[in-house]
Amino acid sequence: MLSPRTHTCGVFRAQHVGADVVVQGWAQRVRDRGGVVFLVLRDRTGTVQVTIDERSPEAVREAAKRIAQEYVLQVKGSVVERYKPNEEMQTGAVEIVATDLEVLSSTRPLPFSISGETDAGEDTRLTYRYLDLRRPTLQHNLRLRHDAVLAVRNTLSEQGFLEVETPILTRATPEGARDYLVPSRVHPGQFYALPQSPQLFKQILMVAGYDRYFQIARCFRDEDLRADRQPEFTQIDLEMSFVTRDMVMAVAESIARAMWHTTRGVDIGDIPRMTWHESMARYGVDAPDLRFGMTHVELTVTVAASTFPPIANALSEGGIVKGFVVEGAAGDTSRKVFDAWTTFVRNYGMGGLLWGKVDGGDLTGPAKKVLDDAGTLIDALGASDGDVVLIGAGDAPSVHAGLGRLRVHVAKERALIPEGEFAFCWVVDFPMFEPADDGAWTPMHHPFTAPRAEDLELLGTDRMGDILSDAYDLVCNGSEIGGGSIRIHREDVQARVLDAIGIDADEAKARFGFLLDALAHGAPPHGGLAFGLDRCIAILCGADSIRDVIAFPKTTSAQCLMTDAPDVVPSADLDVLHIATTAEG
Ligand code: ASP
Repeated sequence: MLSPRTHTCGVFRAQHVGADVVVQGWAQRVRDRGGVVFLVLRDRTGTVQVTIDERSPEAVREAAKRIAQEYVLQVKGSVVERYKPNEEMQTGAVEIVATDLEVLSSTRPLPFSISGETDAGEDTRLTYRYLDLRRPTLQHNLRLRHDAVLAVRNTLSEQGFLEVETPILTRATPEGARDYLVPSRVHPGQFYALPQSPQLFKQILMVAGYDRYFQIARCFRDEDLRADRQPEFTQIDLEMSFVTRDMVMAVAESIARAMWHTTRGVDIGDIPRMTWHESMARYGVDAPDLRFGMTHVELTVTVAASTFPPIANALSEGGIVKGFVVEGAAGDTSRKVFDAWTTFVRNYGMGGLLWGKVDGGDLTGPAKKVLDDAGTLIDALGASDGDVVLIGAGDAPSVHAGLGRLRVHVAKERALIPEGEFAFCWVVDFPMFEPADDGAWTPMHHPFTAPRAEDLELLGTDRMGDILSDAYDLVCNGSEIGGGSIRIHREDVQARVLDAIGIDADEAKARFGFLLDALAHGAPPHGGLAFGLDRCIAILCGADSIRDVIAFPKTTSAQCLMTDAPDVVPSADLDVLHIATTAEG
């Protein structure tokens, strides 16, 4: 019979010696040492040793023979001092001598061991997620997630933010991904979209006078998944009225500080800022990892006179040349490694990699051919004897991407990234638009981001590429963990921006008429930001994948292996939705 427990397993210390207790939990370990059974009992708070020996009644000694790992047990007994304390266990000063033992539940054979790290494949872990979630790592991660979210809620509430829920069944928000659609039964042929973010609702809450909004919001994006993406994920979403970019960034910093301080005891210090152009020039990416060097050096001017075809061709086509130095790597970088790095950058569209070693003030390898005077190139790069230099030439996006990713790849390969460090930075002044494949312009953030006031006149001209936006991204260890912007709060400006990206008045009215209407009814200047909560927690936990910080994640092919979703549904269910499927079932 279930009795109320007196203690949880993880609390026991020397001060409990002499207490009569009732504990419940899972049998993490059962060892039978010639009639003396040692049982490690576990619940969410930790583990405690239970001993069943000659001090226990005969019936209990018999029952102990029938228990196995992961059985659910109730133990009554008294706490005694351990003859030999176990320093590795938090409760290791004591143990419980059982006077009563009841099996509350047994288990089928376990598909994998759950007492520590497991080498079970991820598919098995996801199928038996309830067992995987019992493992200490995941228990730790979900606990940390709770602590982080609580800290965020508290800090935002203290700063006057109201938590408001926004709809899940809604219409498309243009965050750049495909929507998940939900058919309407009541309105045949019509669909809701699941929100890619609460963007439009939070802006409308500002028009409605709510001043400071936040939400721990679930967002849905139907895109091909990578390690750090899930079809549904969580954002810390916020919006503020009557604010400048600096004011939103200050609130965002308070959130990051609260999360890092509460869960890791880390003071993240002042967060440096750099412009998007600076980030691309020095790191090749818009989310730079500042934990290590190897920053890129612009060489386009230095090598302007080069006749070496890869350089001369790139420059004649309006491309760029830049490079970086791997200090002291000459001795242990073989031809094979250079070949692998060359293949690596080709995946990002670079034609090749001009590598070389600095030796006696001269260069070896293809880099030697870049300039007749190797010394000039070595000086421009800031390289010294024994260093490796890596140079790329070609169109700017490919060179930035190739060398940017290579910088991180080399740092990982050569173990140059310090463990346990968090390097934050803000990236600001993003271009408002980027060229799309069809030659049109598409917004780099979303089309509700405000252009800088001084660039407004460039809208719709041939200088669209020069317009900067009032957007900002927060980066930690090379991952974008948050991003947002000051919004357009005037209907006429919003209509001009939509028009400039090829959304004419009719389409704008059809898709975002409700937002344009709202903006025409007294909209305050406003701005906001969203943190990717899963990514923040993964960084805080040191997890490789956000799947390790989400209780019930999906696979990279967007399936839930535990529930087997998505699944076919009876055709009668489709009929009421007025839907016929063409897929083979
Ligand atoms: N809605 C944006 C996003 O989901 C964030 C923002 O601008 O607040 O990325």
